[in-house]
Amino acid sequence: MESLSAFYIFCIGACLGSFMNVLTCRLPRGCSIVTPPSSCPSCRVRIRQFDNIPIISWFILKGRCRNCGARISIMYPIAEILTGLLFLAAYLKLGMTSQMYLAFSIIFFGLAAAFADLMTALDTENFECGIIPDGIVYTGLGVGVVLSYFANDSIMFPVYGAVTGFLGLFVPSYLFKLIRKKEGMGGGDIKLTAMFGAMLGAKSVFFIIFGSAFFGAVIGIAAQIILKKKNMMIPFGPFITLASIIYLFYGKTLDALLFGI
Ligand SMILES: [Zn+2]
Repeated sequence: MESLSAFYIFCIGACLGSFMNVLTCRLPRGCSIVTPPSSCPSCRVRIRQFDNIPIISWFILKGRCRNCGARISIMYPIAEILTGLLFLAAYLKLGMTSQMYLAFSIIFFGLAAAFADLMTALDTENFECGIIPDGIVYTGLGVGVVLSYFANDSIMFPVYGAVTGFLGLFVPSYLFKLIRKKEGMGGGDIKLTAMFGAMLGAKSVFFIIFGSAFFGAVIGIAAQIILKKKNMMIPFGPFITLASIIYLFYGKTLDALLFGI
């Protein structure tokens, strides 16, 4: 029974990952997420039901459109597999609890923001700044406040968290703008940190900010060396999500290390 429900949870994650692909593909371009039904971006032919199965279809089609042979990004099955695996990990760690549903929302909205940011950055010529759609962060913030309230039995937990997350990035980016007279941090990054603050609590914000800055710096420097480009802008959203998901699974250990409690 246990393995059957684990499989079921993975499939739910993969299907939501598939829906996430629709969001990350359409929202930054201002398209509707309901109509038209899924179609190939190259030849506009509608994707048939049996070619639209999460994970499996991409491998059967070998990453190409059945009609015109245009490449389908490998990011799509990666998003589906990742969502499925993280949902499974949350279920195994937390069981069927209100904490598990909160974890699902952190994974879903976090990955949606990260992939939207990454995919829009990949679309630009010099891999400049991506877009984190407001629709994703605001919906995530709303859902996060409600689920966080049920999981923590306190309305102040998400409220303090959201405010701390917002100020934690807004203040340094405002000061940066004041001193250097140029944009430091995107507005989307600030809203995303506020969303995670509401979901994971005020205490998490410290690790989210410093953890994401650390991962961003390491990957950023590595990318500049490998790609031999200087002053590259890299989208920051994926690192905020990475730090938040690490905190989701290892928050207790991190709090003990950082605050000694
Ligand atoms: Zn096509």
